Amino acid sequence: MGCCFSRPDLLPREITLNSIPVTDEPNLRSREISPPSKQRRVSHKYEKIYVAIYDYEARSKDDLTIHVGDLLTIVDDSQGDWWLAKHCQTHVQGYVPALYVTPHDGLDVNQWFHKNIARKDAERLLLNSTNTRGTFLVRTSENSPGPFSLSVRDHDEQRGPHVKHYKIQFTDQKLGYYIALRRTFPSLEELVNYYKSTDGLCCRLTRPCPRTKPSTYTISKDVWEVSRGSILLLQRLGQGMFGEVWAGKWQNKVDVAIKTMKPGTMSTQAFLEEANIMKKLRHDKLVQLIAVCTEPKDEPIYIITELMCNGSLLDYLRQGAGKELKLPALIDMATQIASGMAYLEQQRYIHRDLAARNILVGENGVVKIADFGLARIINEDIYEARPEAKFPIKWTAPEAALRGRFTIKSDVWSFGVLLYELITHGQVPYPGMSNRDVLEQTQRGYRMPRHESCPEEIYRYMLRCWDASPESRPTFEHLHAFFDDYTTSTGPQYQSQN
Ligand code: ADP
Ligand code: MG
Repeated sequence: MGCCFSRPDLLPREITLNSIPVTDEPNLRSREISPPSKQRRVSHKYEKIYVAIYDYEARSKDDLTIHVGDLLTIVDDSQGDWWLAKHCQTHVQGYVPALYVTPHDGLDVNQWFHKNIARKDAERLLLNSTNTRGTFLVRTSENSPGPFSLSVRDHDEQRGPHVKHYKIQFTDQKLGYYIALRRTFPSLEELVNYYKSTDGLCCRLTRPCPRTKPSTYTISKDVWEVSRGSILLLQRLGQGMFGEVWAGKWQNKVDVAIKTMKPGTMSTQAFLEEANIMKKLRHDKLVQLIAVCTEPKDEPIYIITELMCNGSLLDYLRQGAGKELKLPALIDMATQIASGMAYLEQQRYIHRDLAARNILVGENGVVKIADFGLARIINEDIYEARPEAKFPIKWTAPEAALRGRFTIKSDVWSFGVLLYELITHGQVPYPGMSNRDVLEQTQRGYRMPRHESCPEEIYRYMLRCWDASPESRPTFEHLHAFFDDYTTSTGPQYQSQN
C-alpha cells in the first residue's frame, strides 16, 4: 500500500519517537523501510520499530507479554507466525504472534484502520450493538477506484442504525487525500481528525471501530501436539455423531474448543496427516485448527480449535438468537460461508460435510465453517453412504452418495441445501421424505420446491447448485460474488460529497 506517515503524533498516545532507546539511525522518520521478508533473521543495522496492535499474554516461558501501543524491535522474523521481539522499554525478549504487531510508521497503528476488510464485514462490525452513531473505520477499497473507503455508523428515525460509505480519493499528484474535492488533506490521519471535529459527512466521526483480534494460528510457538494434561475440559457444548465437543482451556490460560473423537472413529495416522493439511488452511471464515492431542492412542483424539461463542448455526437458527433473523442477515451468512468455501475451492480442498450443523456462529453475526475434511478420514464402516448409516444423505450430491465422487462441486450441492436451512431457519430439508426417498427421487430429477420465504432469485441459485451435472454447478467464487451483491445492489454504493 506504500503509505507511511511517520509522524510522531500518530504513534499511540504517550509514546514519542524520542523515547525509543534502540536505534543507531539518526533519522528514523524519513527512512524508507521495506517490509520484512518472511524467511530471514532481521539485521540489527536496519532494526525497525514495531507497535503492538493487540494485547497478548505470554502463554509459555519463551513468549513475551505485550499490550496495545508497546514498542518493540523484531529480533527474528524467520519463524513464520511467531516472531522473536524485544520490548523497547523493558528490553525483555520473547515470541509474539506476528499478526499482533505492525511497523510503527504504517497505517495499522491507527485503531480505525482495518486493512483488507470487505464492505460487508465493515458493516457487520459497525452495526454491533456496542457501537454508536459516528463510530467509524477506514478500509482498503475492494472494488472502487479510490484507495480507501471510510465507513461510518449513522442513525435516523426511519432506517434506525445503518452504515454509510465514503470513497477517499487521491489528489491528482497523489500528494493527498479527499472525500470532497474542496477539502484535501496531506494524510489520512488529518482527514480523519478533520471529520471528527467538523460536520461535513452524515455525522461527525466519533470513536474508531474496534478491530477483531485474530486468533493465533497455533496455541503457542512450536506447540502443535499438546499433552492431555494441558487441556482442561470445562463445559460440554454438544454431542456430535462421533464424540463430544467441550469448551475448555489450554494451560489454564487459553480458551479453546475441544472435539473428542471416540476411539476407533478414525486412525490416528490418517487424522494426523489430514490435520497437517488442515492447520495450513487459514481464512477468517474457517474455524481455525490450533492443536491436536493424539497420545495415548487408546484415549479419544482431541481436535482443538478456536471457540465459537454462539455454537452451531443450526441450533442458532432454530432456537437461539438466530430465530429472529431476517432475510438480509441470512443472506449475509450465506455470503460469509460462500467466501470461506471459495477459499477452500481455491486451495483445492473439499469439505465433504457442508451443512448448517457444521457452521459455527461467533459474535456480531460472524459465521465460520467447521469440520472441513474430517468426513474423509472417518472409518468407512461407520460412515458409508447407506441410507441407514450415519451418512448425511440429504446434504450429499447424488454422484457423491452413490459413487463416492466427492468434489468441490458436490460441496456446491450441499451449499444449496444449506441455503434451504438458512432460509427456513433450520428446517430439516426434504420435509417428510426419508433418506432413501431423497436418494431415489433426486436421481430422477426431483428437487425441493421453493419455500414461501425464499426469493425467486435465490431459489434459482439453489437449483443451479443442484444441477444434475456437477460441472454445470456454479463455482463458490461465483456464489460469493452473487450473494455479496445481492444486498448491496439495493442501496447506493457510496455517498457522494461535493
Ligand atoms: P455435529 O456437526 O454432528 O453437530 P460436532 O461434534 O461437530 O457434531 O459438534 C457438536 C456441537 O458442538 C455443535 O453442534 C456445536 O453446537 C458445538 N461445537 C462444535 N465445535 C464448536 C466450537 N469450535 N465452538 C463452539 N461450539 C462448538
Ligand atoms: Mg460438526
